[in-house]
Amino acid sequence: MNINPFQTAISQLEDAAKVAGTDLDFIEAIKYPDRYVEVTIPLKMDDGTQKIFQGFRAQHNNARGPYKGGIRFHPQVSLDEVRALSFWMTFKNAVVNVPFGGGKGGIIVDPKELSEGELERLSRGYVKKIYPVIGPSFDVPAPDVNTNGKIMGWMLDEYEKITGTKAPATFTGKSLENGGSQGRTEATGFGGGYVLREVLKEHAVELKDNLTVAIQGFGNVATYFAESTAGLNLKIVALSDSKGGVYSELGIDVAAAEAHKKSTGALRGLAGTTEITNEQLLELPVSILVPAAFENVLTAENAARVKAKVILELANGPTSPEADRLFEQKEIVVIPDILANSGGVATSYYEWYQNMHNESWTKEDVLKKLDALMVAAWKSVHETKVKYKTSYRSAAYIVAINRIEEATK
Ligand code: GLU
Repeated sequence: MNINPFQTAISQLEDAAKVAGTDLDFIEAIKYPDRYVEVTIPLKMDDGTQKIFQGFRAQHNNARGPYKGGIRFHPQVSLDEVRALSFWMTFKNAVVNVPFGGGKGGIIVDPKELSEGELERLSRGYVKKIYPVIGPSFDVPAPDVNTNGKIMGWMLDEYEKITGTKAPATFTGKSLENGGSQGRTEATGFGGGYVLREVLKEHAVELKDNLTVAIQGFGNVATYFAESTAGLNLKIVALSDSKGGVYSELGIDVAAAEAHKKSTGALRGLAGTTEITNEQLLELPVSILVPAAFENVLTAENAARVKAKVILELANGPTSPEADRLFEQKEIVVIPDILANSGGVATSYYEWYQNMHNESWTKEDVLKKLDALMVAAWKSVHETKVKYKTSYRSAAYIVAINRIEEATK
């Protein structure tokens, strides 16, 4: 099914605006990105031939601070995807209350098909094209799907070379040696764990004990989220990567899964597990389902078969509006992406702040601040949900809309 993520984003905003009775002119004005750029990146391949790549940067809204959001390298990147992701960043940054607006970028590429040298030249090539529209107080990119601290390091180096400035706060999610922050790598997954801890406290009566978890995805976010659940008395029974999933009723040892994936390149074949597909994982009879990979995995097509009681969205945009409606009817607790995965960008703010003030905080300090920030975001969303008797998603949007409206005025 072809679902346009930007339409999903707009429909979520309109639902929330209806609940809160927000001024419709304001809603209309914040639907679309302020601007986006589309760039062409010529890349010299190792064999001497040239290939042309297409890239984007969408700048959605900067009422609350510089545009902020990741850069994704993936074959399915499109303008509508980048627009939707930049939109979600505006609302996410407002929910977690960091002084940033929303932006997002991407290149249409399968990075697995590039050598390390080609990947570096492509990353630098992208910056050559977007450098005039980014900067520490204007637009601050970060990693997203298939990008990481090393790529941010190349991009920052290129940016500083072209502009003749020292400006480490232009990119976040950098490695420590390039001015990154302690705790940034863990932050999105850990932040999701902090929110889940609060959700479990709030919904303790319905959820009871012997809670099981299925996680779709096993990248940076999923692995640190899995680690963060250690103290929550949960059993992770399923995990997956792009090649498929693994299931064990007895529970999966995450460290063993990481080691297996590292040595074989996939989760499949992990000792003591049976193989399942990514689709089967979403329909398992678990207490908590955690989509932590891509958008649009929960749709009208499979939503009726979802058995989880809680859905914690660590991916951006995993649930279509039709699926959302069905989950609401079935009283499934959906913790929306713009709250659940906001720990990453919250820690990007800490990194940006440290760069701007030439400070260096300890990991303990960063994670403590992050925990408190996630709890505060959870509380405001939960209170809003109770006040308006609405879904967590609409509540999160209402919190964000109010903060953005205030800043706009
Ligand atoms: N790409 C991450 C996200 O979707 C982090 C963005 C950032 O740190 O700017 O939230």
